[in-house]
Order: sequence, then structure tokens, then C-alpha cells
Amino acid sequence: MPQSLQDEVARRRTFAIISHPDAGKTTLTEKLLLFGGAIQLAGEVKAKKNRTQSRSDWMKIERERGISVVTSVMTFEYGGNVFNLLDTPGHEDFADDTYRTLTAVDSAIMVIDAAKGIEPRTLKLFEVCRLRDIPIITFVNKMDRESRDPFEILDEVEEKLALDTAPVTWPIGRAKTFSGTYHLAQSAVRLGDADAGRTPVNGPEADSAAGLLPENERDGFIEEVNLAREACRPFDRDAYLEGHLTPVFFGSALRNHGVRDLIDALAEFAPRPRAQEADLRKVEATETGMTAFVFKIQANMDPNHRDRIAFARVCSGTLERGMKAKLVRTGKAVTLSAPQFFFAHQRQTADSAFAGDVVGIPNHGTLRIGDTLTDGEALVFRGVPNFAPEILRRVRLMDAMKGKKLTEALAQMAEEGVVQLFIPEDGSPSIVGVVGALQLDVLKARLEAEYALPVDFESARFSVCRWISSDDRAALDGFIAKQRAAIARDLDGDPVFLAENGFSLNYEAERAPAISFEAVKDYQ
Ligand code: GDP
Repeated sequence: MPQSLQDEVARRRTFAIISHPDAGKTTLTEKLLLFGGAIQLAGEVKAKKNRTQSRSDWMKIERERGISVVTSVMTFEYGGNVFNLLDTPGHEDFADDTYRTLTAVDSAIMVIDAAKGIEPRTLKLFEVCRLRDIPIITFVNKMDRESRDPFEILDEVEEKLALDTAPVTWPIGRAKTFSGTYHLAQSAVRLGDADAGRTPVNGPEADSAAGLLPENERDGFIEEVNLAREACRPFDRDAYLEGHLTPVFFGSALRNHGVRDLIDALAEFAPRPRAQEADLRKVEATETGMTAFVFKIQANMDPNHRDRIAFARVCSGTLERGMKAKLVRTGKAVTLSAPQFFFAHQRQTADSAFAGDVVGIPNHGTLRIGDTLTDGEALVFRGVPNFAPEILRRVRLMDAMKGKKLTEALAQMAEEGVVQLFIPEDGSPSIVGVVGALQLDVLKARLEAEYALPVDFESARFSVCRWISSDDRAALDGFIAKQRAAIARDLDGDPVFLAENGFSLNYEAERAPAISFEAVKDYQ
């Protein structure tokens, strides 16, 4: 194996930030990008978001509601490492998009508001990370404001998330007196993120760090530091990598405190691109054969061209511009003529990408979420999940003549992951399924703007949907024939059973023991 491939893999860190809205994810993202020199001024991430939003109609929805619907990737370099930060939509209505994005990261930063602690979205996203064994670094943000006691925050993480904590830095002061971070193991102070290094301080009691504080807070600080050293767990890298322990950093993204500690931690101990499970075998990141999977499709990044970008995470080998990749789902070759990297400001043609990198592949509908690309091997990556939707609606077309066009448009939207599409066996109008109601707004706006198809949604009678399968083919066929009015096919032609409610689902499931009813389906 060429040494350079191993080196390239070793310096990559692919991660996401998980948090409850308002905890400071955007601010932290900006500050992280500043370190990579990816942007010049803080504030540009938001500014850029707004520009993008104003470009296309459907994005008006997110602008009006002040939310970010778009998941994207931002690549930057710092201290010899390449960081790929995968952004996730903050609004819970786009949760399935977030879950898919989390399949493409190797670690996550959990941002907690120091005054609010663990909030519902944080908890939910943490659970997804835990299911996927994604190690987490915790950043307790907004220490420049009135906050909870740091020990109380650590306790809450331990209790609510059943996760061990190891404070790595400790806040020097709080709110108005917050003036830097103290590294517990190194007995060193960092005054702010402009500080490239940490200044060692004399004595284990952190006396000189305390000197930064008003006199009446000094003793308290020294006591806290001593207690943190005695009572808290020391950082244990293996426990972190296994997802049992989170190192905790305190800071203020807005006031430039603690962000450098965080990025240094990512470089120092966050995992490099990990091996990925495929159907046939596990794929190591340093293998020479190229493999990648698509976890996100984004349309209309450039409305003038109606382009469609598939975001693919490289899992092994080198993805090279111009290469012919095998799209395993169809067995056909796809020429990767213009793969792209995304930076805060611009896209750039990607000549070569390595494990951990995320490239955008422009295409006109060839690629779907969950697709595997390889340089020849017929393996398929597992684990880009499809969740049973929680809202089901029939799509009612205003102009009945355009039925065929609607079917095509809905299939496109479903391939992009905007909604899930179910075609009823009995020939009745298509049913779309979503996790959150805002997805329906996006669908409606896009159908109108891009396909000139005004639609409405009506209640579908059904509210629950499960993928059905069975080892006993005859039993499955029998069930489908008997339940025809409640059977539909998804985008892949796989059958789903639609029920009016949980009660009737259980009722039917009990009467059909040979059939399994699944709430989650892996793509492919
Ligand atoms: P997001 O919703 O998680 O992306 O949060 P934002 O980054 O947009 O931050 C939400 C609000 O909190 C904004 O008004 C920020 O300026 C503010 N904020 C973020 N970080 C800090 C911080 O460290 N200290 C203070 N005082 N405010 C912050």
C-alpha cells in the first residue's frame, strides 16, 4: 500500500456538530472555519447561507422560518489535518436527513448551552450517535453568560446520556469574569483562541490561573480545579473511541474561547476514517480499491443549471477525477468527470479524494441516496437508513392531465430524500411519507417551482407504514393479495403495509406471524 494513502487517511477528520437549536452550532462552525483560513471573518457562514437561500424558490421556506434545511459539507485544513465538517439541518422536521448525514461521519462534537444543559434535540441526536458508535467530544458553550455550575453540567451529561465525562479544560471564571480555559492535565492556561499555545502555570493549585480572576472568586476556582482533578475521570482515549466517555471542553464560541482547544482535540485524538461495513465484508479506509457511498442528494445548488449534486463519502482508496466508477445498484459505469470539494466559499474540482473525504458528484438523476460506488467490486455499504415516515398524505393534483409528470417528479423527489414515495397496489393516487410536516412544504414548493405542478395533500386514511418481508414467499404473496388496499410499493418496489393506526398494525401483525414488519429499512 502506498505510504501516501495511509498518510492521507491518517490526517483526515470527518465530523458533525450535534446540538439543540440555538446552542451555538453556527457560531462554532464559523469559528472552526476561521482556524482553517476557510473564511476571513466570522459571520460569513450565515451570510452565505442567506445568499444561497435567496437563489431558489423552495428555499424561501427555510428563510421565512429562519431554519437551515440544507445539509452540506465544509472542508478545511488546520495544522496539517484535513477536516470535513458535515452540517446537519437544525430543524427536527428534517431529522432523517440528519440521521443519514451521521452515517458519513467518524465522530461528533456535541454543543451544549451552559445555561440549558442537555436539551431534547441533543438527546435525540446523541442517541443516534450512540447507535452508530460515534465518539463524541463535548463543548459546553456560552460560558461568558450566566451558566450552570460546571459539575452540575457534567452530572447531567452522565445521567441523561449514561455517558462518562472527563473534563479536559476548566472554565476560568463565569459570565462576566470568564477569562479563559485551564487545561487540567497540563496545568496550563489558554486566555483565548488567539492564543496559539497554552501557558503553563506554576503549582498544581492553579494559582496563577486564579490570578486572572477577581479576588473573591480565586479560592472557589482553586477548589473547583482540585475537585475536578480528584473526583472526575481522567481522559481515556479508548473509552472515548468506544463511545463510553466524552472529553468535555468549556468555552464561548462567540467570544473566541475554547474553540482552539476543541480543534486541537479533534486533531489529536478524534478517530481517523474508520472501516465501513459492507454487505460482503468490512472495508478498511486504507485499502487501495476505491469505495464510496452516497448519503445526500442536493438539487438546485445552482438553479441556472438545474443541477443535482450527490454527496458521497469516500470509504477507501482514491477517488480520482475522470475515473469510471461502478454504480453497484445498476452495475453500470459512471464517469466521475467533475467531482467537487466544498469549502466555506467555493467549490473546487477534486482531483483526488481519500477515505473520510466527501465529494459532490454532479449528475442528472443517476445517483440515489444509499448508492455505493466502487472501482469494480460489487459490494454494497449498509446503513444509510430509511425511517418509516410519521406522516402519510395522498398527493392531489390540480391538473388531472399531468398525472404522469407528477409520478416522475415524485420519484425524483423521493430519490433525493425529500420525501418517501409509496405507490398503492390498488392504483389509487400516490402517497408521500415524511418525518416532519415541513418536508411537505418543501415538496409542494419544489413541485410548483421546478415542475410547474401545483399540488395539495389530503389525509391518506393511513398513519402508519411498515416494510414487510418474509422468508416464506407464499405467505408474503398471500398477505399482499389479501391486504391489497393497504399495500404500496416504495421506490425500490419493496412492499409496505399501511395501517390506520398502531392498533390496527398490531392487530394485523399478530394475525400474520410469518410476516415481519420493519420500521427502518436500509437503502438498497
Ligand atoms: P445554532 O442555532 O445552534 O446554530 O446557534 P447560533 O450559533 O446561531 O447561536 C444562537 C445564538 O446564541 C446567537 O445569537 C449567537 O450569537 C449566540 N451565541 C452563540 N455562541 C455564544 C456564546 O459563546 N456566548 C454568547 N453569549 N452567545 C452565543
